[in-house]
Amino acid sequence: MRAEEILEHLVSFPVFGGQSNLSIAMWIEEYLAEQGLTFTNVPNEDGTKRSIHCRIGPAVDGGVILSGHTDVVPVEGQSWSHDPFTLTDGGDGKLYGRGSCDMKGFIACCLAVLPDMLKANLKKPIYFAFSYDEEVGCLAGDALAASINDTYAEKPKYAIIGEPSMLQPVVGQKGIVVYKTTLNGSAGHSSGIRKEVSAIHEAARLILWLERKMDRLIESGQTDDRFVPNHTSIHCGVFKQSGAAHNIVSDHACFLWDVRVIPKDNAGDILHEFEEHCRQVTISCRERFPDFQITTELYHPNVVALDTPEHLSIVPFIKELSGRNDLGAVSYAAEAGQFAEAGFESVICGPGDIAQAHRADEFISKEQLDKGVDMIRQLVRKLS
Ligand SMILES: [Zn+2]
Repeated sequence: MRAEEILEHLVSFPVFGGQSNLSIAMWIEEYLAEQGLTFTNVPNEDGTKRSIHCRIGPAVDGGVILSGHTDVVPVEGQSWSHDPFTLTDGGDGKLYGRGSCDMKGFIACCLAVLPDMLKANLKKPIYFAFSYDEEVGCLAGDALAASINDTYAEKPKYAIIGEPSMLQPVVGQKGIVVYKTTLNGSAGHSSGIRKEVSAIHEAARLILWLERKMDRLIESGQTDDRFVPNHTSIHCGVFKQSGAAHNIVSDHACFLWDVRVIPKDNAGDILHEFEEHCRQVTISCRERFPDFQITTELYHPNVVALDTPEHLSIVPFIKELSGRNDLGAVSYAAEAGQFAEAGFESVICGPGDIAQAHRADEFISKEQLDKGVDMIRQLVRKLS
């Protein structure tokens, strides 16, 4: 099957982040099995989702992992010109469909070149690593990378994460972590606001403290010009379950905030400083309301940043494969940092433009899909 035909199948599975991916996983597994390949599953706890990995070629050190995620983002609220789950040739050189670009296009390229991999006399192995739940916080990347380490006696050297980058090698990726902060206040008449403790007012001050913390990081020179924006961002995106009426002091407030760190910042340090500040606030609020409390918990696990130094051998390797010499860095979360953390030299490099990802009428150009196939064929030649 050509990459376009495979992509048609992959796009037809509406597997959203957070939901079961068994339908698409089984289709991929059947395809692998037809080619005579054995594979390993990395299931979630209740068996409703699973990652897949397999090796093609000899069990020797120095192989290359090709990584992709099988889930996509929702289409609700978006106005699509075509059915998002029917790959549609627009006649304009573009193939439209949810996930065509992010990132079933890359998986289709991998699967399309599989017969060539099997025929080639590979001296170093290639691994496929396909995950789930990437779009809701890279929830399966760590376990997938760990399972590759545990399953194979040999050690793969490189990991190429095929997120859409127009096949530009990307060596930096911000990390992300999401926290949930909850406050309780004293419910009283609103006229007594100066003797009560309003959970909403205190929460608002904490959110402004977080914004100020971001500003202080920037002012102290914590920037990295490879990224846009060039600094760690701290942002409160959800404020909920707060307040009963305009004339009652709120006894409850809750907000979610995300931290997107450049590699030289550390989300844990930011959390630590925030919690220290919360302790001071708590001491002072308890003078008016002894049961006052602020708690902060992890809402989405930490996705580590990627910072692949240019002296690593994967850098010239991926430059040659992709035919591009300009290295990039991205501000979105991806599994690349997780693969790097597991001990593989890692880069992001895949077909399609991230500008099309997550949008209505997402597409991948046929040219990019062809170039993705060419890159993987080139990989097969290099490892043969
Ligand atoms: Zn993606």
